[in-house]
Amino acid sequence: MNNETMMQYFEWYLPNDASLWKKVKKDAQKLGELGITSLWLPPAYKSSDGINGVGYAVYDLYDLGEFDQKGSIPTKYGTKDEYLEAIETLHKNNIKVLADTVLNHKFGADELEQVIAVEENPTNRNNTISPAKLISAWTKYTFPGRGDKYSAFKWDWTHFHGVDWDEKNDKKSVYKFYGKHWDKQVDAENGNYDYLMGADIDLNNLDVVTELTNWGKWYLDFTKVDGFRLDAVKHIRADFYKMWLENLKEYAQKDLFAVGEYWSRDINILTNYLNDVNSEMSLFDVPLHYNFLDAANNGGNYDMRNILNGTLVQANPTKAITFVDNHDTQPGQSLESWIPDWFKPLAYSIILLRNQGTPCIFYGDYYGIPHNNIVSKSDFLNLALYIRKKYAYGNLKDYFDNFNIIGWTLDGDEEHKNSGLAVLLSDGPGGNKVMNVGTKFAGATFYDCTGNIKDKIEIDENGNGDFRVNGGSVSIWIMSV
Ligand code: CA
Repeated sequence: MNNETMMQYFEWYLPNDASLWKKVKKDAQKLGELGITSLWLPPAYKSSDGINGVGYAVYDLYDLGEFDQKGSIPTKYGTKDEYLEAIETLHKNNIKVLADTVLNHKFGADELEQVIAVEENPTNRNNTISPAKLISAWTKYTFPGRGDKYSAFKWDWTHFHGVDWDEKNDKKSVYKFYGKHWDKQVDAENGNYDYLMGADIDLNNLDVVTELTNWGKWYLDFTKVDGFRLDAVKHIRADFYKMWLENLKEYAQKDLFAVGEYWSRDINILTNYLNDVNSEMSLFDVPLHYNFLDAANNGGNYDMRNILNGTLVQANPTKAITFVDNHDTQPGQSLESWIPDWFKPLAYSIILLRNQGTPCIFYGDYYGIPHNNIVSKSDFLNLALYIRKKYAYGNLKDYFDNFNIIGWTLDGDEEHKNSGLAVLLSDGPGGNKVMNVGTKFAGATFYDCTGNIKDKIEIDENGNGDFRVNGGSVSIWIMSV
């Protein structure tokens, strides 16, 4: 078995030209050769802003670029047939596909409804700040372009908790519909963070739960995806996704992979959430992303011994999806916290070259982000992915024992010839460290495959080598044959 590696195959500013499904189909073989084993594709259904929508402002979950709705047949990424063809081609290259799943909210309703609502204090949603009044809410979804194909379910205000816009008074606020209550098992920010945006879906409503479970079954059958990336889970009661995933796993008769986006750097919140959902999903390791950001922004004054402290990969590696950046952290986006270029090789070495957690590499790092003149890091990533696929096996030994310079070794396994490696990295000055790669390498010569250090080193009879690294960089040492 080779190491598993995930890739997020989009960034925020891709052109609105309906071309991504064709591109991924063309790239599938190359991605498989690189060692990508699963691909997270962006939301494939119609947004309220049609072909210009990244996908998180969901209009119709059943329109995968098939119906003339919101100004076009295709979505930003292409048509339904192109999506299905891309998935088929990815499967032929042994790459699993994860569907981006947005069930917290909807946008772009077809009609207004008159609804009685109260206003909530935006920063404390347990606190009502207005009397009940009639508002005009965008909550009626009839899908005239699709009709009843795949599902006859039509949404109205009773299927939502609330909205943030009263059309009658042109007023933005947090409106909770009369008689509704926010979900309890959600993030505690703003008092209660059930409401995020758009028309917030009421996941206590049994008709809604049934419809969204039916949709999940339809999606599995129709697209043949292998799992889900679950958007905005901290705004959705934990019980919902626990039951939704249990139902779909039973229906599919296989262990569907799921990873949730719970945006918090508090490890206790993440581990509590995993308990609440009975570990039916993995979570992105948000604390690790912020440790990378702290280290990168400290310009050499970060204590690298702490780089894994408070992270999910340290607390629960089998449930951790590690990543460096994503479509929300990239410049200009809602959670902007972009890891600077100089630190990217260090961060990617930490997620790709250790055998804990499942790493997810970001499209914007691999291909660059032309919108922000961010260049591709594919040279380094191609190398690190190759080393991950061929060498990153065996028992892990950590040497997190110096303020600036940390390292680790893997002693290799039988299945992967000559596997095993030593990684040394520094956020400050360069230096050296004696690390052990195992006695099976006694007498072998190791070299730095990044080319940063030109000299080779010898492994002694005890399996020790005196490895070196330059300042602010990483060296990846493997056996010279
Ligand atoms: Ca919600």
